[in-house]
Amino acid sequence: MNFDDLVAIDIHTHAEEPCNHHRDDGYNEFQAGMARYFRNPAGAEGMLPTVPQTAEYFRERKIGAVIFPVDAERETGFRRYSNEEVAQLCAENDDILIPFASIDPHKGKAGVREVRRLVKDFGVRGFKFHPTMQGFWPNDYKLVYKMYEAIEEEGAIALFHTGQTGVGSGMRGGMGMRLKYSNPVHVDDVAVDFPDLKIILAHPSFPWTEEGLMVAQHKPNVYIDMSGWSPKYFPEIFIKYANSILKKKMLFGSDWPAITPDRWLKDFEEIGIKDEVRPLILKENAMRLLGAA
Ligand SMILES: [Zn+2]
Repeated sequence: MNFDDLVAIDIHTHAEEPCNHHRDDGYNEFQAGMARYFRNPAGAEGMLPTVPQTAEYFRERKIGAVIFPVDAERETGFRRYSNEEVAQLCAENDDILIPFASIDPHKGKAGVREVRRLVKDFGVRGFKFHPTMQGFWPNDYKLVYKMYEAIEEEGAIALFHTGQTGVGSGMRGGMGMRLKYSNPVHVDDVAVDFPDLKIILAHPSFPWTEEGLMVAQHKPNVYIDMSGWSPKYFPEIFIKYANSILKKKMLFGSDWPAITPDRWLKDFEEIGIKDEVRPLILKENAMRLLGAA
């Protein structure tokens, strides 16, 4: 990937299994719920983009994209896009896509081996965790610390979903999703115990926005991605920190396909981010994090 050719790097996009055919595992209903939450008709109509279509969209706009599946089959029962398949598609589109992977921490030793294999054999650069969808505390050392150790040793990045989620929103019993796991303060323990692990807190962490800002301010290895929300709904304090003490820690992310970069970037223009800070958030911070600057 030649970063000079890119105008921005989107650190948070999803490889969703296309659901434009009927499935009997509840996946279509789940995507319809997500579409309502994000007011994004694409999901409900079964128009989710494939990975090659995603590459095409980003290539047209000269925006590099970190892309990942989410391994939550244990909690949700959904088949997932395999990490290998996504990484392979990224390799075929390596001018624009950067592969992350996702492994349910409950996979234990097998998961730890998978981390190392995905980095070494498939060029995976990071791992997405979703504490609510995967049902775990990020600081559960017995469960997941061996996996962080492997990620740290392989020089990869750990990205954590934080705050509220569209997953299970409005569905009976929230589809079993427990929101408590996604408070970013639990990731603070991870940042202490793995000081050389690069960590991203995804989203404005609502309603724990201030906790997320606190962790990123205090721990040099913790970044925040601004995905999953249109910037026009960002809490004021989030913008204030992005403009000042966290200007080198904040990262552009959309949460594609739930939110498109077109919509995100348009709204980002309107929130009073300083001219000198904008390129940091849109591209330079991500380049540094990815070891490209
Ligand atoms: Zn996401």
